[in-house]
Amino acid sequence: MIDLNLYDPFEKMQFSDTNCFLCGTIITPEHRAPVFAEWLQEQYGLRNKELLLLDKSVTTFDKLTIPCCDRCHTHYLLPLEAKVEYAAAKGIEGLRALEDQELFQWIGKMYYGTLITELIKEASPLIMPEYAVSEDPKMLGKFRTFFQVLQSLRVPMVFSDFLPCTLFLLEVNPSEDSLPFEYQDELTTMCFSIKLGSVVIVCKLLDNGIIRSAMGKLYQLTQGKQLHPIQVAEFKARVFYAAYIFSVVPEYFIRPVKPEDDHLVLDTLIDDITNEIFNPWEMVAYAHMLEEMLKPWDVREQEILKNPGQPLSFLLDDENNFKEVPHYQKQ
Ligand SMILES: [Zn+2]
Repeated sequence: MIDLNLYDPFEKMQFSDTNCFLCGTIITPEHRAPVFAEWLQEQYGLRNKELLLLDKSVTTFDKLTIPCCDRCHTHYLLPLEAKVEYAAAKGIEGLRALEDQELFQWIGKMYYGTLITELIKEASPLIMPEYAVSEDPKMLGKFRTFFQVLQSLRVPMVFSDFLPCTLFLLEVNPSEDSLPFEYQDELTTMCFSIKLGSVVIVCKLLDNGIIRSAMGKLYQLTQGKQLHPIQVAEFKARVFYAAYIFSVVPEYFIRPVKPEDDHLVLDTLIDDITNEIFNPWEMVAYAHMLEEMLKPWDVREQEILKNPGQPLSFLLDDENNFKEVPHYQKQ
């Protein structure tokens, strides 16, 4: 019998070191799984590298772990990690050949892992965060909805005609690329990007692919090309900004389950009648985002907005054709 019951830790805010993050089973605190898999830590030498958490505290990649029962670890997390590791070794073609749903689950686990690290911390009576995620009902609603679809990691699930996220895969030109690994994670906008060698995956969770469609034309132009890192940074700025102004939360509905069913089927609905999908695009806010992403090259907002109607772009020329950037000289 396949267990098709979903777990809802948000109902009782069951975030502790003694509940498996994925199925809720009671465990002892030594049962944990790394947020960034062992193979990633190994391959990119991350183990002792520091990373900043939302509450501004610093940890290292090997210390960032989440409560996870042995069953979920060996049956669901490790096989997926092995698949992604194998795919990543083959570069962009390998990663492209993965099912979208698998990449969603893989990124979703890292995103959710950093999120619940925050929620577990906030549950401690000794910690008084400046901004508590757990006290924001709207955010919690979003996370709860996200966890529903993330459980496809454990409970066989078919998404009827949608993917619960946007995924972009970009290839970086090695000639001016000095970063073997990088990741960026925005808890509130649910945006995540990770760089594995020459491939960058950019993902917006829980938008049902709307940003993918909105940016379809630009994405098309990047395919089959090796991008300069500064072009990748701009692409990321566009996705992260789109995620920032994205203003709806999809709803997911589980079809009634019959006793012989071996998986769940989910349908979705986005209310775009009473809600606008995107808040208005504000050029200055976008320029801030781009400036942030372009920090390594020292490109300032002033330069980005020199022509206020058409912000600086490394991806598109004045006629909106793809721009080749083989080399970029810092000003
Ligand atoms: Zn479990």
